[in-house]
Amino acid sequence: MRAEIIAVGTELLMGQIVNTNAQYLAKGLADIGVGVYFQTVVGDNVSRIKESLHIAKGRADLIICTGGLGPTQDDLTKDVLGEVLGQKLVIHEPSMNKMVEMFQRRGIPMVESNARQALMLEQSDPLPNDTGLAVGVAVTHEGTHYILLPGPPKEMKPMFDRYAKPWIESKLDHVQPLYSIMLKFAGIGESALEHALIDLIEAQTDPTIAPYAKEGEVAIRLTTRASSADEAMTRLRPLEAEIRGRLEEHIYAAEDITLEQQVLRMLAESGQKLAVAESCTGGLLSDLLTAVPGSSQSFLGGVICYSTALKHKLLGVPMELLEGPDAPGAVSEETAVELARNTLRLLEADVAVSITGVAGPGETEGKPVGLVYAGLAHRNGQAFAVKLQLSGNRETIKLRAAKSALYHLWK
Ligand code: ATP
Ligand code: MG
Repeated sequence: MRAEIIAVGTELLMGQIVNTNAQYLAKGLADIGVGVYFQTVVGDNVSRIKESLHIAKGRADLIICTGGLGPTQDDLTKDVLGEVLGQKLVIHEPSMNKMVEMFQRRGIPMVESNARQALMLEQSDPLPNDTGLAVGVAVTHEGTHYILLPGPPKEMKPMFDRYAKPWIESKLDHVQPLYSIMLKFAGIGESALEHALIDLIEAQTDPTIAPYAKEGEVAIRLTTRASSADEAMTRLRPLEAEIRGRLEEHIYAAEDITLEQQVLRMLAESGQKLAVAESCTGGLLSDLLTAVPGSSQSFLGGVICYSTALKHKLLGVPMELLEGPDAPGAVSEETAVELARNTLRLLEADVAVSITGVAGPGETEGKPVGLVYAGLAHRNGQAFAVKLQLSGNRETIKLRAAKSALYHLWK
């Protein structure tokens, strides 16, 4: 099934709002194995909406429109689709009753234009609106499926998830179960990941490839429909192998777990205890680790050595390293190594991680915002630090620093 998303709204065209609906729908469709071939944005204009529908009909089996289901003059999507398909608009009684009741309850008169929100096409299936008034529409005409959803995301999302998705699934030729593989990445940003896989993403049909990014981690989900898991894997595995071939050193899991979960799992398996020394992350790394149930098995704890004094007094970093005209400074490879080494020794850990850097907004020691060193020390005597140049605001840099430290620990 080839899908096209048409976002209707002049504000979208003019850049006043961002087309987040299209993104949400594209991901949701990938989840059920439907590939989006085109995305269109069109203003609130009858002839141009018509034109978009005609073009979409020629190249897609499923057309999903969002926006323009409201009560006002510029809400035209249902009228236009009715005209294009030659179907009259009829009142969907339950939606009408709900609306009348709502107005009565609030004691405000219902303006006639509001009734428009209860309209559907005569041969369509209604899609209930649990969070608003405008009823959605799903209809099949001459082999093409059409779905109309409201514009506001808080109405569009539940309507899509609860009602439109099952409707689409019921129209898929062979409704076979979905199988997917989730690959989770660390130490690589979303755009670098997409860049590395762009040819695969652009050529995708089946399996579908859906990238996700959140909280310092990126993931991709490969999805296909098949009659059995074995059959699905014959399609998913070669694609997974292709992706692994390109990005193996960044794939920390083939399931939906966080990097800290994976690191703790590895530590538990090898029976190693971890301790941390956190400067610019101020405890964030410890917070991430302790958010995982059972982390006490492998995580001893650590020191928030935010000040220079603490780095020296508590963790024994020599003053010559920290201060003075020729000193490397608190944000340096030497200090990161020293912090990790001494934390390992003082806290009697098997492995220790340190983080020291400049979270911003201003520079420190004349060093740029985003410069971070992550140190690692191991019981076997090995100790080193990696230099990171991270981007983002203070909050993002802290999170990226903590995740990067975990990544180097995993590696
Ligand atoms: P309403 O009843 O609010 O008029 P509607 O279904 O007619 O809803 P629109 O009038 O097109 O939808 O848009 C209403 C609001 O929904 C927009 O002002 C915007 O905030 C949001 N919206 C519409 N389309 C999108 C979109 N593609 N992505 C994100 N938000 C959107
Ligand atoms: Mg509107």
